[in-house]
Order: sequence, then C-alpha cells, then structure tokens
Amino acid sequence: MENNRTVIIGAGPAGLTAAYELKKFGKDSVILEADTQVGGISKTVCYEGNRFDIGGHRFFSKVPYINQVWDEILEEEFLTRDRLSRILYNKHFFDYPLKPVNALLGLGLVDAASVILSYGKTKFLTWPKKPDENFEQWVINRFGYKLYEIFFKTYTEKVWGIPCKSISADWASQRIKNFSLGEAIKNAFVNSGKNKDGEIITTIINQFKYPRLGPGMMWEHCQGFLEREGSPTLLQNRVTQIRHKNGEVFEVSAKDAQGNPTHFSGDQFISSMPLREMILSLDPLPPNKVVEAAKKLRYRDYFTVVLLVDRKDVFPDNWIYIHTPQVKLGRIQNYKNWSEDMVKDTRLTTLGLEYFLWEKDEEWNWPNQRLIDLGIKECIEIGIIQPNEVLDGTIVRMKKAYPVYDMDYAQNLEIIKRYLAGFKNLQTIGRNGLHRYNNQDHSMLTGIYAARNIFGNKHNVWSVNTEMDYHEKGELKGGLSKDRMIPMPTR
Ligand SMILES: Cc1cc2nc3c(=O)[nH]c(=O)nc-3n(C[C@H](O)[C@H](O)[C@H](O)COP(=O)(O)OP(=O)(O)OC[C@H]3O[C@@H](n4cnc5c(N)ncnc54)[C@H](O)[C@@H]3O)c2cc1C
Repeated sequence: MENNRTVIIGAGPAGLTAAYELKKFGKDSVILEADTQVGGISKTVCYEGNRFDIGGHRFFSKVPYINQVWDEILEEEFLTRDRLSRILYNKHFFDYPLKPVNALLGLGLVDAASVILSYGKTKFLTWPKKPDENFEQWVINRFGYKLYEIFFKTYTEKVWGIPCKSISADWASQRIKNFSLGEAIKNAFVNSGKNKDGEIITTIINQFKYPRLGPGMMWEHCQGFLEREGSPTLLQNRVTQIRHKNGEVFEVSAKDAQGNPTHFSGDQFISSMPLREMILSLDPLPPNKVVEAAKKLRYRDYFTVVLLVDRKDVFPDNWIYIHTPQVKLGRIQNYKNWSEDMVKDTRLTTLGLEYFLWEKDEEWNWPNQRLIDLGIKECIEIGIIQPNEVLDGTIVRMKKAYPVYDMDYAQNLEIIKRYLAGFKNLQTIGRNGLHRYNNQDHSMLTGIYAARNIFGNKHNVWSVNTEMDYHEKGELKGGLSKDRMIPMPTR
C-alpha cells in the first residue's frame, strides 16, 4: 500500500483538498503536517473557549467546483454572512469599498478637491501614461495620486514593510484587477458589484460564506473525513528532507514532536510547504543557481493580538482597516460579527488586532504581555476601546503569512519553476508552495489540479491566478469524466 500512496506535505487548504480529490478517484494519501492542528493559515485557534482566525477568512469563489467541495465538506454548518468593513483614517470612518459621498464628506473640502483634481489629471492630462511598473504607479494610473496616498499607500506599506515603489505591479493587478475609481463611483450608485466586463469584483463582494466555528472547522471536517477513509494526517511531522534520484522523489523525511526522524515513501509527492524551504530540503540539492533563487524568495510574517473586551458591541463591522499612520496596527477583526459562536460569552467581544512584520524585527520576540499592551495602547489611541475594558488577551504568531512580490520574485520563481519541471512525480501547490498570493479557493484549485494530474490530466498548477479570467469565469475545465470518480460517502 505504501508504495501506491501519495505523500502530501502540509495540511492547509491546498494539501487537504489534494487528498480529498485523490480520494474521489480512490487513491490513498498521507499528509505530513508540521503544526499541532490542520488548516495552515486558514486554521482557527481556540483560547479559553473563544475562537479566532489568522485574520478573518471569507469563503468566496467564482469557481463552481470549489463551492461544491466546501458544501460537500461542511454541509449545514456553512453560514452566509453580510459583509461590513470600513477604513479608519485619522479618526474618520470611510465605507469600504469607497463610496464617493461618504469619502468626500469624511475627507473635508480641501482633500476631497485634491482627490478629484489628481484623478482628473491622471485620467485626462498625463500623457503618455507612465507604465504600470510597480504597485505605486499601477494605483496612481487608475485612482490618481491623492487617493493613492490616503487609501492605498499607508496600509499597503504596513502590510508589506517595503515602499509601494518596490512592490511588483503583479500584486495590484491580482488583487484589485479591473477596478478603478470610475468603477468605484459607478458601483456606489448602481451597486452591481461588477466591472465593465461584467465580472464580479472580488474586492467589493458584500456577502460571503463562513463556517459556524471559523475556517478551521472546514479543514478539521476534511481531516476527519480523510482519516475515516484511510488517508491520515500526521500532525507534528515537519518535513526536513526530500530525497530524489533521476528526476523522481522516492522518500520524504520528517521530524516528529520529539525530534525523532520519520520516513515516508510513496509513488507521488505533492508539497505545499514554502517553496524556499522545499528547494533547500531537496537531497541532493539543486544546482547553485536554483538554490540562490530560492534563498531570495521573501515572506512577510504576522501576529495577531486577541483581546477579550468587556463590552457587548464594540463596532458593527466584520473588520476595520486602520490607515492611520501613527499606529502599527493594520486591521482589526471582530469575530462575533463573523459568527456569534466564535465567542464563549456573547456579552463580551473578541477583537483580533493584526500586525504585519518581519521575523527579524525585534517585536517578533517580544513577550506576549508586551505585545498585548501595545495592542491595547493603540486601540485606545484610535478610539476603539476605553482604558480598563480589556479582560484578557493572547498572541498568535504566523510565520510566512504572505509571499512577497518584490521586484525580483518573478525572475527567481521562473528559475525554480524550470528546475521543478524536470521531476516526474513531484508537484508543488498552494500559496507558499507556489509563492502566489492565493486565497483559499485558488490554493485549493492547485491541489485539485495536482491530484488530477496524477490521473493523467495536464493542468498547469502555476497558471492558477495568473489566468484569472479563465479560472474565475469557467468551470473546472479538462477534468476527468464523472464516471471515474468515486461518489463521496455521506456522513
Ligand atoms: C491575514 C490573512 C487573511 C486571509 N484572509 C483570507 C480570506 O478572507 N479568504 C480566503 O479564502 N483566504 C484568505 N487568506 C489566505 C489563506 O489563508 C490561504 O490562501 C490558505 O490558507 C493557503 O492554503 P495552503 O494550503 O496553500 O497554505 P497554508 O495555509 O500555508 O498551509 C500550508 C501548511 O503546510 C505546513 N507546513 C509548512 N512547512 C512544512 C513542513 N516542512 N513540513 C510539514 N508541513 C509543513 C504548514 O504548517 C501549513 O499547515 C488569508 C491569509 C492571511 C495571511
């Protein structure tokens, strides 16, 4: 049996979905997971009976098959939620997505006039338009300088920790694609939620689905189902070596919780661990050029300060973006507004304060209490809570939350991609596995593609999210015929 199975690295949405899809075709797998629980960045952490996400995880996909898989896994526990999120900038709340009247009133006459003038200048006077060579230019070309300065620059630089000029335009085109100030204004009046090509604008969807007990619930259900069907997830098994010969992987080694080595063989291997570590764990190591390219891939790290606040209603939003430049805080989640069952006592509120940083920053090693104190201080400063309202707090750190799209990443990725194409039975999938800023749905799609490739399909996992239109509009093309699929047992 062991030589017939697929070994999957990582039990996040991509790895678990790959195993789930393989099961549909009757193939067993074993998942090796470094963490003590499944879900990866989409896990739900429980502290003293209160649950929270790493950020907040909306479930939304334009790929029908992904919605089908979510429904299969979670059935009736999948809630439909209305979205409310706003931007806090210098003590004013702005609707998000921006609504012109609300934005102009909030900004005051001078800033409002300057937004309109700078948009008009970019739209009608600047000719030829500067090429979209980085994030800053991409946004200015579509929204004008002033709006960029107020509503994009501060928050984006908090998230990425590098100047907007050093961020590749790929990131903007992936996240804010085909969305301009003109469309924002049009949407405020007709509220179609679609761009000029009739596509749904993901940035402004106002309803999404959410598991009753947070995103981890989806992935724990999936893990449970796979376990019952003979495809286990082995927690606390961190992969350290991937052994290969003549373009084929034959064994993966991991370290268990006690640091003991464990070894796993199989006929196929799928990896969702970060690409940089994956390349560096290959034995023998790839040529120097590939190793150097992998070492240059960068990741932004993240921690969340969770505060238990002694107030029933703190704010009505699911989350608030904090554009105020004086605080480091980037975003605040209010978990009760995602699902009431996320809090133990509904007379209280749990807030998730999101901070973006590098692991090498000194704050990363601060003791938890110091970070909690920072969170409380900044929340008071921006007027969200009062002193003495916080009953308890905790910290969750998440390394490699964001693959960084710096100006060299695409070139480095190309070198790695070309090298990996030489393997017959190793595929990389997922967000950090492909160094792609994917949400859950696209991470899952790469897992589905990898599973189907094992059955002879020729999907290009690297294409997910670069050919967004194709994937977002279309059904999952080129799939295996339904009669080769094994129906999922009912639970
Ligand atoms: C703040 C934030 C908010 C987000 N909000 C949303 C949202 O609203 N909606 C949405 O759909 N998506 C959202 N996302 C994105 C979503 O979290 C990811 O797309 C998704 O979790 C990626 O799944 P994955 O399986 O590719 O990777 P991951 O979730 O990173 O999972 C990879 C797994 O591999 C494991 N691993 C790593 N190294 C090893 C090793 N050496 N050996 C064994 N295991 C290893 C990790 O522990 C992890 O469990 C958000 C992300 C962040 C950071």
